[in-house]
Amino acid sequence: MDFDRLPELGHVLSVDQFDRPFLDKICDVTQEIRELRDKPDGKRLLKEQFADRTAMLYFTQPSSRTYTSFAVACQELGVSIVDVRDPHTSSEVKEESLLDSIRTFSSYVDVLIMRSPVEGLARDAAAYLDATPRPRPIVNAGNAKDEHPTQALLDIYTMRRSFKDRGGVDGKTVAFVGDLARSRVVRSLAKLMYHYYDMQLLLVSPPEFRMKPDILAHLDQHRVRYEETADFNGAVRQADVVYMTRVQDEHDAADGTRSPRSFPEFHFTQEHLGILRPEAIVMHPGPRRDELDPATDDDPRSKYWRQMRNGKHLREAVIACILATLQRKRNERRR
Ligand code: ASP
Repeated sequence: MDFDRLPELGHVLSVDQFDRPFLDKICDVTQEIRELRDKPDGKRLLKEQFADRTAMLYFTQPSSRTYTSFAVACQELGVSIVDVRDPHTSSEVKEESLLDSIRTFSSYVDVLIMRSPVEGLARDAAAYLDATPRPRPIVNAGNAKDEHPTQALLDIYTMRRSFKDRGGVDGKTVAFVGDLARSRVVRSLAKLMYHYYDMQLLLVSPPEFRMKPDILAHLDQHRVRYEETADFNGAVRQADVVYMTRVQDEHDAADGTRSPRSFPEFHFTQEHLGILRPEAIVMHPGPRRDELDPATDDDPRSKYWRQMRNGKHLREAVIACILATLQRKRNERRR
């Protein structure tokens, strides 16, 4: 694997920045890193790649999978990490502006990976740092209800791998189920669908959590076929991918709503395994509640645990591309 030839990558802020060649390439790099790790000496080689680099994990919203997978991905590439997980432990409590805090962190690290409840923070931080003498790449690791670009990438990688003998992601029917209005995961992944040929989306939700008009407009604009429906069983019968999501009730206070914990009519249970196509897959970004019955975990079509593991591999590829790009820029400046 040639680290000097990794694709160019700076900020990762929104799925809008990706095109099909990049999506294909990042999946290839993810695969190559996995294969390198399994070779004798592969782990050591990976650890030596970016051993002088430091990443900041600024995660002021709860996270298990995304935080840990980024942290381990960095460690496996030899990148040291520092973190803020609770804003009460940073100078934000002394009323330092968030952007000043971020500029301070950027003085010490090479890349900032950010999850925050503040709408648009990653984008604003990137624009702010770009105007300083020490710009640093920002990775959006989940922003409010808006976007979760690295989750969308790992979902694409999971689909591509699951359908590697069936033409990859192209031509598939994807049923998104649950809180489609507020799931940043679904919003980001839906926006990537137009890069694949002949996709069909089934948008299964209770009326109050229908997909938002901006995403429907995006699908219309890019001529992605979709159908909004409450027929969960019909969607399970038809789909190649059943993508389950949790009710995102952490946004209730801001939205002035009080959501039920889950919607039993949209729970995926063992009975659904009987109507799911033999070659279909079930995905869920985690954390799950009652919408996905643990009794389905052992079915070979249930890919959510694998999907979660793919998160670490894919994020390792993202960090490697960002740091290799930084290195190339640094070398060019020295010449
Ligand atoms: N882990 C995902 C996210 O951070 C999905 C979820 O929380 O339901 O958006």
